[in-house]
Amino acid sequence: MADMTSSPRPLLNRRLAEFGTTVFAEMSALALRTGSINLGQGFPDTDGPEEVREAAVRALRDGRGNQYPPGPGVPELRTAVAAHQRRRYGLSFDPDTEVLVTAGATEAIAAALLALVEPGDEVVALEPYYDSYAACVALAGGRRVPVTLRPQGGRFRLDLDELRDAVTDRTRLLLINTPHNPTGTVLTREELAAIAELAVERDLLVVTDEVYEHLVYDDAEHVPLATFPGMRERTVTISSAGKTFSFTGWKVGWITAAPELVTAVRSAKQYLTYVSAGPFQYAVAEALALPESYFTGLRDDLRAKRDVLAAGLEEAGLTVYRPAGTYFVTADIRPLGESDGVAFCRALPERAGVVAIPTAVFYDHREAGAPFVRFAFCKQRPVLEEAARRLKGAGAR
Ligand SMILES: *Cc1c(COP(=O)(O)O)cnc(C)c1O
Repeated sequence: MADMTSSPRPLLNRRLAEFGTTVFAEMSALALRTGSINLGQGFPDTDGPEEVREAAVRALRDGRGNQYPPGPGVPELRTAVAAHQRRRYGLSFDPDTEVLVTAGATEAIAAALLALVEPGDEVVALEPYYDSYAACVALAGGRRVPVTLRPQGGRFRLDLDELRDAVTDRTRLLLINTPHNPTGTVLTREELAAIAELAVERDLLVVTDEVYEHLVYDDAEHVPLATFPGMRERTVTISSAGKTFSFTGWKVGWITAAPELVTAVRSAKQYLTYVSAGPFQYAVAEALALPESYFTGLRDDLRAKRDVLAAGLEEAGLTVYRPAGTYFVTADIRPLGESDGVAFCRALPERAGVVAIPTAVFYDHREAGAPFVRFAFCKQRPVLEEAARRLKGAGAR
């Protein structure tokens, strides 16, 4: 048999060639090798509510979901998702035709783009973007058109003129993410209204990733794009249990959308995983019905953690963009006399025993993201306090 590894033709196809390995693998290996505190990858270091774990155990024991669940997801979860959207946002969705359960938000993003994007279509996305967006647009044969969020007045802002200019006759959809990873920005009502107007005016579809819908702080408010005039019928809203309930390993996500959009997305989804996470779907249905105190408790806990880490970074001399949402804080390293976030993050484990992610990797315009680094604060308080101490002690100043 021929040695495929030395074949002149690259094994990885052209669509994926630029997405070889992710920065997370490199940084996590570095964290391990140097015994650093890993604030790179965004997963909580404590599990979600005990009663939700127990609900999963019960489902497993009772034989609920141990065999292929229904393609659209178990009815209990679809009903719970619809009830959540109605209760929180006044949005009504039919659990049978307007809700689809997916293998995390990740599959929802992939299935939506594979279903809705024709080769050559342009997809306008906010930059920096979540790392799977670019790869999924590429898999769908689409062309990504980034609109850069730029820091101004203490937060990363969307330039509405730039967004308008990015839309052409070939634009198929807007891919939006709010609360936004990695910048921590929560798009304002005004920004969202402008996005909605543009989508209606140019007759665009919108895919909106709202997995951090419950992680908003201070005066910020999460407003789903689907609540704006003309948006319900053109918007695929994506969310997931991973961030809201601190079970990122369960991979239970969902979309809510008009029936035709759900049908389209399901056409792609059925050939990706078909179904997933059977017993966990029942547990997440129960989680979505937790009392309001759970959600406010999660928010308060994370807000306090944000403040610990932000204070540490400020004391270490970085410029901090205090996030209004998500569990990430983005900081500018230029006050330290540095400008290359990639080099900074490669050196930081040796220098301070802390791992962060250079946000340049989430940009097409790498130079726009060069001085920014992202730290996750979904970790236990003592871990964050120790990280803050190390950063300060590393003589970052
Ligand atoms: C974590 C994350 C996802 C992935 O969610 P899963 O439910 O774990 O697949 C999607 N989008 C954003 C912006 C995220 O941060």
